[in-house]
Amino acid sequence: IHPSERLPEWLRRPVGNASALENVQGLVKQQRLHTICEEGRCPNRAECYAAGTATFLLGGPICTRSCAFCQVEKGQAPQPLDAGEAERVAEAVAALHLSYVVLTAVARDDLADHGAHLFTTAMAAIRQRTPGVGIEVLTPDFWGGHRDEQEGLAAQRQRLAAVLAAQPACFNHNLETVERLQGEVRRGATYRRSLALLAAARELAPAIPTKSGLMLGLGETEAEVLQTMGDLRSVDCQRLTLGQYLRPSLAHIPVARYWTPEEFDQLGARARELGFEQVRSGPLVRSSYHAAPQPTSNR
Ligand code: SF4
Ligand code: SF4
Repeated sequence: IHPSERLPEWLRRPVGNASALENVQGLVKQQRLHTICEEGRCPNRAECYAAGTATFLLGGPICTRSCAFCQVEKGQAPQPLDAGEAERVAEAVAALHLSYVVLTAVARDDLADHGAHLFTTAMAAIRQRTPGVGIEVLTPDFWGGHRDEQEGLAAQRQRLAAVLAAQPACFNHNLETVERLQGEVRRGATYRRSLALLAAARELAPAIPTKSGLMLGLGETEAEVLQTMGDLRSVDCQRLTLGQYLRPSLAHIPVARYWTPEEFDQLGARARELGFEQVRSGPLVRSSYHAAPQPTSNR
């Protein structure tokens, strides 16, 4: 085993409340749903489920892109669409008494709207059953399908506008890593385009906060992380998550380094100085970790 594959102490975590886990796992399986929590075997599951939060993956379990870090299964387009998915997500949200739901989706570059309607349909179904639930969306970049750059931008904006019109509690789109490592880490997305998407979200819906996140440990330097945080603030991104990248399997991009909890604390403090209103920074932080607003904690 390569030294960088050995998990530092601070990344090991007890499984936690087994019955809360089984409850969610059973329902997700029974309803033929997919969650990032389970698919990624997220170390925070017990905590999040107990707090009434989970992240549902829409658009099926197979993605048309193949980012080097991501554990979601990859496949060729077109993938069939599951017409009952939104309704079953809504049923699961109600049955699990969730109070804050994060909706994300695989990149559906095979669909005309790149999957924008997956978000709006699921939001409507959830609200019909559970009106008070907070819904955050964590979207792909909705980019593609047009040869002409200007046409492409207009189409992307339209897809984004449709999602924002459904009034999510927060619009989240991850940069994932610093500019230099984008090509190696993400497939089909670019740093500038993602920043532009976050900027457009602020313009189209100023009342909806925007959020983005980075995985650390892919080979980035501290200066590059600070630069990226500055770039996010330059498009008025208000919320930030910083977490440690963990390699899902040997087929994925290796971990270059484990950042220490102290370094995460320091970066979190820098992020607050830069003006982010909500910052979650720590080795086990994921894009949806403590996503619900918590006025008593800003960690
Ligand atoms: Fe799920 Fe996100 Fe919580 Fe992990 S951090 S269990 S992915 S809601
Ligand atoms: Fe994973 Fe999203 Fe990349 Fe698809 S686009 S491989 S779901 S990170």
